[in-house]
Amino acid sequence: MRAQRGDMEKPLQISVISFDGDMTLWDFLQVMRYSLKQTLTELQRQVPTQRALELTVEKMVAIRDQLAEEVKGEVWSLLEIRRRAFERTLEHVGHPDTDLAAHLDAIYRKHRFEDIELYPDVIPTFDALAPHFKLGLLSNGNTYPERCGLDGRFAFVVFSQDVQVEKPDPKIFQITAERAGCELSQMLHVGDSLRNDVMGAKNVGAPTVWLNREAVPNDTDIQPDYEVSSLTEIPEILGLRRKNKTCQ
Ligand SMILES: [Mg+2]
Repeated sequence: MRAQRGDMEKPLQISVISFDGDMTLWDFLQVMRYSLKQTLTELQRQVPTQRALELTVEKMVAIRDQLAEEVKGEVWSLLEIRRRAFERTLEHVGHPDTDLAAHLDAIYRKHRFEDIELYPDVIPTFDALAPHFKLGLLSNGNTYPERCGLDGRFAFVVFSQDVQVEKPDPKIFQITAERAGCELSQMLHVGDSLRNDVMGAKNVGAPTVWLNREAVPNDTDIQPDYEVSSLTEIPEILGLRRKNKTCQ
């Protein structure tokens, strides 16, 4: 843990902790790529053309991201963007077919939502924090808590596709604090993205934890209040473990 606050002697007045979802609580990229691979296998079985055989998961990701960029601010439903991406993928391989796109989409969704796994540090951290803090989810993604074993764990959830504004926009942090019933200065935000999570929260005066699981260098000028490599370091930041040790 690297504490970076300049006023360490002054304890944080934290009552609420908001967590990012993708790559903070669960490995979205892994489940997304795995689900696309299953979908690609089915596509190549149904469309045995050379262009289909040459299709890759990387190209499917690129097609989806290009589409998302084109409809940014207009289409907020991530599931709709994904379905339309399969339609465009079939056009790309020279086989436009909306029924087949819907079939591929169903395969994707099944794996995408059923095969997602929490990082192993999530439950122990939540168990330690839950008696002391109100916990919530603030996500630009679409993995709902009940889909990954976190049903009932959050006092509030905010999804960008539901409120039609996304991190790092200040508005989504303000909406989150309202739902949590606290001031932004009392809400610690935890996330893996320096831009979306750390900069976004800092800009509205919320304290921040940057989760840097892979120990990548920070080559930006965005400075989190704390940097951790595991969620399990957060209770100590908030004084929980130290207090327990004192009691022993
Ligand atoms: Mg994230």
